[in-house]
Amino acid sequence: MAKDYYEILGVPRDASQEDIKKAFRALVKKWHPDANPDNKKLAEEKFKEIGEAYEVLSDENKRRIYDQTGKADFGNGQEGFNWQDFRNNSDFSDIFDEIFRNFGGGFGGDSFFGSRRAAQLDLSVEIEITMADSYNGVKREIKYRRTVDCDVCNGTGYEGNVKKCPTCNGTGQERIAQQQGMFRFVNTITCRTCGGKGFIGDRKCHQCHGSGKKSIVETRTVDIPAGVTDGARIVLRGLGDSEKNNTGDLYVFIRVKPERGFRRVENDLIISKTISFPQAALGSDDMVEFFDQKIEFKIPAGTQPNDVIRIKGKGFPKIHGTGRGDLQIRINMEVPRKLTPQQRELIEKLLDEPVQRKGWFGK
Ligand SMILES: [Zn+2]
Ligand SMILES: [Zn+2]
Repeated sequence: MAKDYYEILGVPRDASQEDIKKAFRALVKKWHPDANPDNKKLAEEKFKEIGEAYEVLSDENKRRIYDQTGKADFGNGQEGFNWQDFRNNSDFSDIFDEIFRNFGGGFGGDSFFGSRRAAQLDLSVEIEITMADSYNGVKREIKYRRTVDCDVCNGTGYEGNVKKCPTCNGTGQERIAQQQGMFRFVNTITCRTCGGKGFIGDRKCHQCHGSGKKSIVETRTVDIPAGVTDGARIVLRGLGDSEKNNTGDLYVFIRVKPERGFRRVENDLIISKTISFPQAALGSDDMVEFFDQKIEFKIPAGTQPNDVIRIKGKGFPKIHGTGRGDLQIRINMEVPRKLTPQQRELIEKLLDEPVQRKGWFGK
């Protein structure tokens, strides 16, 4: 039996998502390692447990599996709870902002998450793809600028005689303690000796002129999986800006361009098909073509406008889970604007049919 996640979060087994969220919020504040400097080891352990428990219980699917099996191994090879991702999740960013406001300065805010700076090293790009790309998956090359350490001076900004800054010991940050009454506040500021670079030297680097940085153009191929939805995010670890030993991530946001005649609802692809009155009344074989698909289907006799013909498994691939959604073909009925004399004659004959007439016009 794995750990009892309900016990960890201190909620009953039938707790609502709202309760789980609330309990989690309170525990994050209580056990954040930066808020427990005297008890850091325990806090870190607790913090990890809380994260794991929340990850499972906040996801209805995982929670169900956990309830049934008592196991939290979902067999998809995913690593544990990722606080870095989580911190970027806007639902909770307020708690972390509060923690950083309260503790970030004093206890060297970079203890648990890697520094706050690491998040500032993240970059993002947006890729627009078509519905067909989202249906089939696509590889896209991206080019973007990122800042890395200067290769001539290794990010120190100096050439020749270079040494670690003695004031900040290379961190680039200075701690300043202030006593106010009973309280001692510790603030972290940019090191005044080295200007935050962490190094001092006698000759500025000729390539970066002392900044220690270099801007490069990165070219990468992004594998966009089939089934990707509009607004989805792909994270490429370690491809953001880098600075000393910190490297940010690159967030690739996917936009799926809307396309006339196509709509996605969940994993279903909805397309419309215009057919004639005789086809609808008598039934017929028809075909739809979209993206690289050609799908034959039957229109049943008596089909009405706005009827939906559903074809299983021909929608978008499911990003979570296996299989695909359905294809929904919405039927439009075409009423001819102009008639040939023969057509007119045929339709007028229908009008003379007493039973039909009653059926059509309702009187
Ligand atoms: Zn310094
Ligand atoms: Zn340089």
